[in-house]
Amino acid sequence: MTNSIEYVLGDVLPEPGTVMTVADGVRWVRMPLPFALNHVNLYLIDDGDGWVLIDCGLGDETTRQLWEPILANGLDGRPITQVLVTHYHPDHMGSAGWLLERTGAPLWMTRSEWLSARAIRLDDTEELLDGIVAFYRRTGLGATDVADMRVLGNSYRRMVSPIPLTFNRLAADTVLEIGGRRWMVMIGSGHSPEHACLYCPEAELMIGGDFLLPRISPNISVWWNEPDGNPLQDYLRFLDSLDPIADQTLVLPSHDRPYRGLKPRALDLTEHHDRRLDLAAQVCQVPSTAIDVMNAMFQRKMDTHQTRFAVGESLAHLNLLIDQGRLSRHLGDDGAWRYVTT
Ligand SMILES: [Zn+2]
Repeated sequence: MTNSIEYVLGDVLPEPGTVMTVADGVRWVRMPLPFALNHVNLYLIDDGDGWVLIDCGLGDETTRQLWEPILANGLDGRPITQVLVTHYHPDHMGSAGWLLERTGAPLWMTRSEWLSARAIRLDDTEELLDGIVAFYRRTGLGATDVADMRVLGNSYRRMVSPIPLTFNRLAADTVLEIGGRRWMVMIGSGHSPEHACLYCPEAELMIGGDFLLPRISPNISVWWNEPDGNPLQDYLRFLDSLDPIADQTLVLPSHDRPYRGLKPRALDLTEHHDRRLDLAAQVCQVPSTAIDVMNAMFQRKMDTHQTRFAVGESLAHLNLLIDQGRLSRHLGDDGAWRYVTT
């Protein structure tokens, strides 16, 4: 189905530290990331006297240095007047505090995303590290790898500048008027608690955040703060809710390149998770841990950072299968959950 996706600008990308027009009244900035996923897309919407910035990049020196020429001469001499962050993850939120201080612009976020950012940024407690260890023991991760998880600890704090004390709330019924056009806020959960996308029906444009990526599937993970959560169900519901969006809508995603074809892409993503649910159920025909299922899903060597996402993704599929009545779990003598088909 991926051939139904049309990359509207082909392989053309904005150079680091520059902006590129991607649609009428919308500009694109691409910031580097020091991970396997090596970049994040940010967008600027023309609001007449100034710009509304969507997402900010990581809170590191590289990103701040790349912002300088853009702030100095990349915006036609007009200021950033509002900053909107789709969700709290470090590649979106990282430089927000710094940019708000530089520009004096107010911050717009959903309430749960702001609360998550604020809480996680402030948490440097031993209690958190103990909670991380307890969570990964339950997954069947080996003792050395669990110890590495403790060492990695709260990596969020290191990638994000201080979270502003105040914000303006984006809610499901929020409509923003930007540059004379109406942008509707669409909220979904699964990748993060209350992720905001923006949809402008008259321009057939959608700021997709991490929800509608053209090539990779967004990470859908269970984390230590909600071990029995069911984020995959939330995400599949979001994908199911796209009917009212016009077929020809141009999606501006947070990673990879702008594309048309969001409905075939949503179907692709749903089928991808269906296959993974079947794979997890198949592994669990014999009692298996979340790590056993992870190894079947991700057949490659991963570092501690990648393992966090992979274990979380494995748990997201297992928790949905439990909710569907296809699996049950029991605690093994070693302190790890075993999942088995019912
Ligand atoms: Zn994200």
